[in-house]
Amino acid sequence: MALDQLKALEGQAVMGTYARHPVEFVRGEGTRLWDDEGNEYLDFLAGISVAQLGHSHPRVVEAVSEQARRLMHVGNLYYTEPGMWLAARLAERSLDGKVFLCNSGTEAIECAIKLARRHRPGGDFVVLEGGFHGRSMGSLSATPDEAKQAPFAPLVPGFRVAPRRGPIEVDDQTAAVIVEPIQGESGIHPVDGDLLAAAREACDAHGALLIFDEIQCGMGRTGSLWAWQGLGVRPDVMTTAKGLGGGLPIGACVTGPGHADVLQLGDHGSTFAGGPVVCAAAGAVLDVVDNPDFLRSVGDKGDRLAAGLRSLGLEPRGRGLMLGFAAANASALVRRALLDERLLLNATGPDTVRLLPPLTVSEEEIDEALQRIGRLL
Ligand code: PLP
Repeated sequence: MALDQLKALEGQAVMGTYARHPVEFVRGEGTRLWDDEGNEYLDFLAGISVAQLGHSHPRVVEAVSEQARRLMHVGNLYYTEPGMWLAARLAERSLDGKVFLCNSGTEAIECAIKLARRHRPGGDFVVLEGGFHGRSMGSLSATPDEAKQAPFAPLVPGFRVAPRRGPIEVDDQTAAVIVEPIQGESGIHPVDGDLLAAAREACDAHGALLIFDEIQCGMGRTGSLWAWQGLGVRPDVMTTAKGLGGGLPIGACVTGPGHADVLQLGDHGSTFAGGPVVCAAAGAVLDVVDNPDFLRSVGDKGDRLAAGLRSLGLEPRGRGLMLGFAAANASALVRRALLDERLLLNATGPDTVRLLPPLTVSEEEIDEALQRIGRLL
């Protein structure tokens, strides 16, 4: 169907919540995408950190097809192997506790919020200025953005906002502190390591949970499997999603051993959660990403991309392949990148151009993207 027809259908049938660029994509492979006219694009956004292994990675495609042929859904009243196996691997490779599988980042945060309220009934939450945790009523309440929150008031009560540079104040009423180790949506802002360490200490002193939202910065994106591993501050609970499924919708809330049994029978659930197809996809992504050589390559490629941006006179923020730079008119630059240079980037925060390429991006593709960015500046 032609782009004009799609736009007409959108106008007629789709709630107007998204601002889409005027391009229709029909195929993807690795870091490349093709539109309906056969034009080739370089994807440095990966569906906002979702296509972690690029588009249609053979191992993910194979795992999904094989599982889809065998069994697609039976629900959580019964056992299936991919979900149990994925939970065990995720727990072992992160916090050593237990896992609740779900369908998105927002749902992973909802689970973490409920877990924290179970941990400290009636307790409050501290969230960081600039944080983004989702758009459901709970996760939106944890997202201190006036424009996003105001139309939907009243929100869930009990959320307090700490300044981006701290201090994060915790007391005996605090159920949890929720932080993205690197803030993504507000413009790639790494949270100060000392602030995270101080939050860790304060949570320990008052029996509050430290929850890291690794939905955007996790799954190898910064050159360690989880961003917190590169920071040396271990949370009690973490959330992951986006790149976990390599293109399919899956999320997870993971605990350390001390909080593995906080949520009890009947406390939480979801029809589709932990389904065999998405879990098979996530297993295939983990097979590739959770490998020291692969993770080292992410760090090296991130360094190459950051150095290239610096050589263009830009000042990149972030770590690994999660980078952003300030630009006076970020939205216009991103639009020109797409239409003139066939390069997918994203504008986020007030003035940031964000780059989140697939972790499988090649050095040549990085150099090519840098050339295209250079032409735009
Ligand atoms: N948390 C973070 C850090 C995110 O970046 C996002 C999405 O951008 C979310 C939560 C919400 O995830 P989802 O869009 O999968 O519901």
